[in-house]
Amino acid sequence: MLEVTQLHVSYGGVVRALQGVSLQVPDEKVVAVLGSNGAGKSTLLRTVSATLRLHRGAVVGGGITYHGQSLAGLDAARTVRLGIVQVPEGRRIFGRLTVEENLRAGGLGAADKSARAASKDRVFDLFPLLAERRRQRAALLSGGEQQMLAIGRALMAAPKLIILDEPSLGLAPKIVGQIGRILQAINADGTAVLLVEQNAVMALGIADTAYVLDVGRVSLSGSAKELAASDDVRQLYLGHAATSASGAPAEPAREPSRTRSTLSRWQG
Ligand code: ATP
Repeated sequence: MLEVTQLHVSYGGVVRALQGVSLQVPDEKVVAVLGSNGAGKSTLLRTVSATLRLHRGAVVGGGITYHGQSLAGLDAARTVRLGIVQVPEGRRIFGRLTVEENLRAGGLGAADKSARAASKDRVFDLFPLLAERRRQRAALLSGGEQQMLAIGRALMAAPKLIILDEPSLGLAPKIVGQIGRILQAINADGTAVLLVEQNAVMALGIADTAYVLDVGRVSLSGSAKELAASDDVRQLYLGHAATSASGAPAEPAREPSRTRSTLSRWQG
């Protein structure tokens, strides 16, 4: 579905944020991208969603295709029309607008009224709480509810591929678990998911495949199961804790380690 090949991206012609990144998102699958601060995760998503230029970044090598079509030169609106929709970093919802108005804004590009209505029904099915609070101003929602609204707004555009930049950031563990289950439900309806996360427990728990980015390069990739079982990933992203009977880490690390030397073992 989405194929990133030897992608090189720089900012202002100086910062080399991505240096030859390749990855694939197959149809109807969940792909997670892990990595510590500054690894290039947001840059990768910005390139896919054609918002890189807004950040003064540019592709300087390689490229991205979607169902075989190059995304080079497309703007963000055209990318959305192709079915690639990003939930923005920091869940930028419109605080002064109501929940329903926020959703309406997400559905502006929908084919017609009935498509918009179907998308809204789907969003309210997934997030009954948003239906209850549809007339409330979005600014009054909690952080977790705002994240759900941001995801709901993206769904209003009926994406075939939804991309998310750290949806768990700053949320309580219980809410992170809910977000993970919602992403699984969205995927079960046939929408592929490309997820950037520092919360490896959640990301590897729902992903089919995963990639670890380290200073602009893929340092490790494989099935999410393999990565979750890997000692190095467990040390860097899941804490040193022993796994529980269910295979879930007993004590997930709050933040991934910034150690680069360990990750670099996978390079080259
Ligand atoms: P984080 O988890 O902290 O968001 P990240 O993995 O998403 O990190 P990016 O934000 O993609 O990493 O940053 C990759 C590199 O590009 C870093 O060195 C960062 O400082 C740099 N960078 C990101 N955005 C810009 C920008 N607008 N202008 C210049 N450099 C940038």
